[in-house]
Amino acid sequence: MICSRKTKHNPSPTGLTCPTGLTCPTGLTCPTGLTCPTGLTCPTGLTCPTGLTCPTGQGGQSEKRMTVMDLQIIKSAAGEPEYRPSWDVYFLKLAMLASERATCPRMHCGCVLVNDRHVVSTGYNGSLPGSPHCYTDGCMVVDGHCVRTNHAEINAICQAARHGLQLAGATAYVTNMPCTSCAKALIAAGIRRVVVFSDYHDTLAERFFNEAGVELTRLTMPEQIIHYDLDNFSSAKPFANLDDETDSCCTQ
Ligand SMILES: [Zn+2]
Ligand SMILES: [Zn+2]
Repeated sequence: MICSRKTKHNPSPTGLTCPTGLTCPTGLTCPTGLTCPTGLTCPTGLTCPTGLTCPTGQGGQSEKRMTVMDLQIIKSAAGEPEYRPSWDVYFLKLAMLASERATCPRMHCGCVLVNDRHVVSTGYNGSLPGSPHCYTDGCMVVDGHCVRTNHAEINAICQAARHGLQLAGATAYVTNMPCTSCAKALIAAGIRRVVVFSDYHDTLAERFFNEAGVELTRLTMPEQIIHYDLDNFSSAKPFANLDDETDSCCTQ
């Protein structure tokens, strides 16, 4: 998790706040670190998710595929922060958070199973309960794959099963394209939609999803930032005895 003290930014010319921390060449802070609505082009060369058009003709809406940033922007006219995520981005970021618990150094994967905007279950790739972790005892590699851990999707399905929770009709938010086995397990569990932001090698997931009529949505990776500005929320106060620059919010 990123400490709120490290994500404070100066106001941009639009009044929006840059969630990326990238700086516009004008010295003003670009609202997102992408194409600057002042008319100058941000060095990233990416598309401006504010929807504002650059008067110079540079930059602009050039991406054909809908990006996560497009989905994230909530117009401030409603009085909401511009970083307020869409539901898809919200659950993908939860999947990213789940992946932080992964115990295999070969890959970190997270999965969140959601029904009717309700988190039913979460999982990450990790060993069986009570068994040694890859990080402590090493990976068990068979045919090029570590078999010590269950994959995130399987662990999420197993968690739901242990608690008797319904998965029929649910959506799986996964940090990466499921492997063939996980794809089949998701389908058999009744998952009807899968949302991912990165690929996985040698998987037949898309073929099986197509056969089963499961909707597959590819999005770009959400920003790796959690927006929580405790210092500037008017009704929230940091604990007084932890209010210094070395408090524990940035450490494990
Ligand atoms: Zn491993
Ligand atoms: Zn898998």
